[in-house]
Amino acid sequence: MASLQEYKTHIGGQWVPAESGETFESEDPYTGEPWALIPRCGARDVDKAVEAAYAAWESGPWAETTATARGRMMRKLGDLIAENAEALARTEVRDNGKLMSEMHAQCKYLPEWYYFYGGLADKVEGSVIASDKPDILNYTLREPIGVCAMIVPWNSPLLLVAWKLAPALAAGCTCVIKPSEFTSASLLDFMKLVERAGFPPGVVNVVTGTGKEAGEPLVTHPKVAKVAFTGGGLTGRRVYELAARGLKKVSLELGGKSPNIVFDDCIMDDAVNGVISGIFAATGQTCIAGSRALVQESIHDEFMEKLIEVARQARMGDPKLPETQVGPITTPPQYEKVLDYIGIAKDEGALCVLGGGPAGADEGGGKYFIKPTIFDNVTNDMRIAQEEVFGPVLSVITFKDEEDAIRIGNDVVYGLAAGVWTQNIKRATIMARRLRAGTVWINTYRAVSVTSPFGGYKQSGIGRENGQAAINEYLQTKSVWISTAEGSGNPFVMKVAGSS
Ligand code: NDP
Repeated sequence: MASLQEYKTHIGGQWVPAESGETFESEDPYTGEPWALIPRCGARDVDKAVEAAYAAWESGPWAETTATARGRMMRKLGDLIAENAEALARTEVRDNGKLMSEMHAQCKYLPEWYYFYGGLADKVEGSVIASDKPDILNYTLREPIGVCAMIVPWNSPLLLVAWKLAPALAAGCTCVIKPSEFTSASLLDFMKLVERAGFPPGVVNVVTGTGKEAGEPLVTHPKVAKVAFTGGGLTGRRVYELAARGLKKVSLELGGKSPNIVFDDCIMDDAVNGVISGIFAATGQTCIAGSRALVQESIHDEFMEKLIEVARQARMGDPKLPETQVGPITTPPQYEKVLDYIGIAKDEGALCVLGGGPAGADEGGGKYFIKPTIFDNVTNDMRIAQEEVFGPVLSVITFKDEEDAIRIGNDVVYGLAAGVWTQNIKRATIMARRLRAGTVWINTYRAVSVTSPFGGYKQSGIGRENGQAAINEYLQTKSVWISTAEGSGNPFVMKVAGSS
């Protein structure tokens, strides 16, 4: 076995091992072989990281850095990411097994977050309040909330960090990031760029390790003011509960069971590709997966024929190769979970019309490969239609008309995204209004932008990432009152009087 690449973590501007000296292995999901050694941080490392972040925010050079200078540093970081996009993508692919074509495109687009929010940094303004009191100048300051904990999953590590880190830095916060134990390496590579961009020590820190050992002490640390989390619903609930004990501000992005709704007036080939892209891109391991295809009854047979024909041709294989379309499942527990759900769907009576199990080497598969799987005859009350699988498994459900599509589309606890395929503009706008989801795509799917707000309705989450407003997640408002009155008035009476 080749020797493992040893990583250190980054705390207070230093490259350090875990205090305990312990490490854990990170596996390449394509080969199933370990390739890197990652520090196994615990509560003591978390405490060091949070103290470093707190000091940088409270009294370090960061506290004195102007918003304009912060923006400049962020743009420099964006440039460095652009120069190193391919190398970062290679590390991500090695760790999470997603396609090089997808991760490279993501890493090339990553700088935009640092440019966009870097540009916003010195445009955060308070306001002068039109006071109802004479002799008072009242204005607001919008100030950084403090130390932010950021917890991200394994599916798109650097992208999901950027969604949190860029607005937080623009706001003037400092950060401690905990990546998934399955995909820590790209964030540690990225930290070299953070250093080169000139961010002072303590502004961005990383604690690698497990959710229990590093994540929980981070969420509960008294000096953490805000928690930004992306991951599964169960973990999200736990993080929310722990953060609530310390009355911390929280944003959560928790995945979904998004409907991709195909009407009989769609352009059929576009809709087929849209449904494929919704569920088989990224091997279905994406929070916005269109895991329920809602297909109008009148076109069901024709649509299914085309869908199966295209999905059947999806090429599995080495995620590093440009021709590969479907890669491995990222983690062993996730692999088991997806197989369990395939079994559940079969037991529930859903009709498996494609795939339905592990993919062998003869099909391009490797250790953790699952064939693109399509279940037809699914009803929306089945578990396969209600619960997030996070893998290449599509449930097809038929509907009669718009009303039926809206009822089925909304009948899940989630509300992250929805797709609609129609050429009728009136129908498109009605669907966009009535679907309870944070993002609705009409005649497209899986499109995201730094400029556009992203987040969930219902149990898909709390708060918004991306877009200008996301910076508010990292700011708090202070109201400043300056009296120019003569004398101080009656000290026993609250100064509520309006214009007197
Ligand atoms: P988790 O939600 O468990 O992981 C997300 C992050 O939270 C990881 O960094 C994880 O660390 C960390 N974490 C885990 N437990 C805690 C805790 N108690 N306190 C603080 N942090 C914690 O995702 P999983 O990897 O277990 O995936 C489970 C399911 O979540 C998937 O099957 C999928 O349905 C969903 N998911 C949704 C994602 C999304 O984009 N919305 C992304 C990933 C998963 P560690 O990795 O070390 O456990």
